[in-house]
Amino acid sequence: MLNSKTDKSERLFTEAKKYIPGGVNSPARAFQAVGTTPRFIEKADAQFIYDADGNKYIDYIGSWGPMILGNNNPGVLKAVQETILNGLSFGAATEREITMAKLVCEMVPCFEMVRMVNSGTEATMSALRTARGYTGRSKIIKFEGCYHGHSDGLLVKAGSALIAEGGSPDSAGVTENCAKDTLTAKYNDMDSVEKLFQEYRDDIAAVIIEPVAANMGVVLPKDGFLKQLREICDINKTVLIFDEVITGFRLAPGGAQELFGVTPDMATFGKIIGGGMPVGAYGGKREIMECVAPVGKVYQAGTLSGNPVAMAAGIMQLTNLKENPDIYEHINTLGEKLYGGLAEIVKTAKADCTVNHIGSIGTLFFTGGPVTDYISARKSDLKQYAKYFQHMLNNGSYFAPAQFEAMFISNAHTELEIKKTLDDAAKFFNI
Ligand code: PMP
Repeated sequence: MLNSKTDKSERLFTEAKKYIPGGVNSPARAFQAVGTTPRFIEKADAQFIYDADGNKYIDYIGSWGPMILGNNNPGVLKAVQETILNGLSFGAATEREITMAKLVCEMVPCFEMVRMVNSGTEATMSALRTARGYTGRSKIIKFEGCYHGHSDGLLVKAGSALIAEGGSPDSAGVTENCAKDTLTAKYNDMDSVEKLFQEYRDDIAAVIIEPVAANMGVVLPKDGFLKQLREICDINKTVLIFDEVITGFRLAPGGAQELFGVTPDMATFGKIIGGGMPVGAYGGKREIMECVAPVGKVYQAGTLSGNPVAMAAGIMQLTNLKENPDIYEHINTLGEKLYGGLAEIVKTAKADCTVNHIGSIGTLFFTGGPVTDYISARKSDLKQYAKYFQHMLNNGSYFAPAQFEAMFISNAHTELEIKKTLDDAAKFFNI
């Protein structure tokens, strides 16, 4: 049965647009890049998600990463239910925050200290402020096509929904002054990084990177690239920051830094660290983190930071991940099956497509590739992606509603869903 009944979603979308810009609280949800009605979601359970018209989908978004254990994981749910009985927020210190801090410091190689915030955006913004406070320098290097949230200085050549929105990567409302300290290098291109260091050597506070890029679609770092970044930062006494909002606790319990064996000075997390509650975190070397108020002079605060309910959900999810390596084995095996299967399909169909993947995240690009950076990702045929997306959605697979995003597999997925998705993809490619 096709999932093409969308009357209620359409009605809700029309109503939503009267009161909310574009009808959504985050641009990618508007499905602008794929030219179809955004589905209004009613509930999600395990590997499935259900819309307002009663359509059921295999969920390959998982709230853009947090739902690594599957939607509505019983353990996480129970932790939330138990915690809310004692109050939703105190704006004061709690023991749970220590449990969370200890847990992530054990799991994440670069963490000696951590500060909890409420989103990935806050985490990266605060990490950069801290790096600037620590070094006394003003400039930062980011990479074209990497997205680090929507703070002013990071909306420069950013990825994610900004790419899909018609090519101009910069946002209106970001002043030249805010953007002038953001230097951009090319992903996987050390020459471009070296040139910036030659020009601005003593002025670069930090290099921030998605260790596996996931906001220009999934793009893997070339062999040795992260290590070379580590070296150039060491030489220049620049703070290396891995933005692990997508890769953290997903590619390995200790994130990409554990997987690739390269330890940054700082790292940022979001989404997954809160099990679905609004949470982010930044942390790193003690010497750097002790620059943060009230110990140091870098100001950063948050009324709801370390919120008890969010901490309870996050602690439960991360403990689960830490204690059950079989979760990684499961999602990575399914990743191999799904992305390997898609690669096989496009090869058989002789389609001009490339599949990039690592573990449970991946992207099918509608370009012959290889896709190694922002420029090669942008060669994708977006109209074809839109058609593919619509076909898959109508057949019950809920993919990322834009080419330049990742797909996510959870521990609740099984081979059955992967097989169905692959069968439907094969039909799209006429094989
Ligand atoms: N960094 C990365 C790598 C991300 O993918 C995102 C969100 N997709 C962010 C930062 C921003 O996180 P948030 O949406 O929670 O502010």
